[in-house]
Amino acid sequence: MQVLLARAARERIEAATAEAYPCEACGLLFGGQVRGRPVITSASVARNVAAEPWHRFEIDPAHLFASQREARETGAPILGVWHSHPHGRPIPSAEDRAGVTDPAWLWLIAAAGRPRPTLAAHVPDPSSPTGFRPLLLLDEAGHPG
Ligand SMILES: [Zn+2]
Repeated sequence: MQVLLARAARERIEAATAEAYPCEACGLLFGGQVRGRPVITSASVARNVAAEPWHRFEIDPAHLFASQREARETGAPILGVWHSHPHGRPIPSAEDRAGVTDPAWLWLIAAAGRPRPTLAAHVPDPSSPTGFRPLLLLDEAGHPG
């Protein structure tokens, strides 16, 4: 499966990842479907309220509730969640697996790095040993990268 990421959303995630370093940044993904493919058109940046934000993330519940309400009102659904890995690769951790609440949500992970973070997308998959299946992340024109 493929997922398209708009440039504005990528840039927001990259900037928030750098800004939060050495803690984890996090937020939500919004968009829709185009020809059966999820398209992430925007990303929000939430306060990370985890007790140990340098290796955990927890989206501010107030942000989550406000976003759910907005999604209902605008009809633009929450497609998933994103967070950063300040040290490490953009692959889901055991904590991430335990943190899955909605099996349909995409998980975008940004591994901090220079000159830019490395982004990767995943979707929960209980049949996979890691609990996730990687997705092909494309730009808004449908090209890899
Ligand atoms: Zn993680």
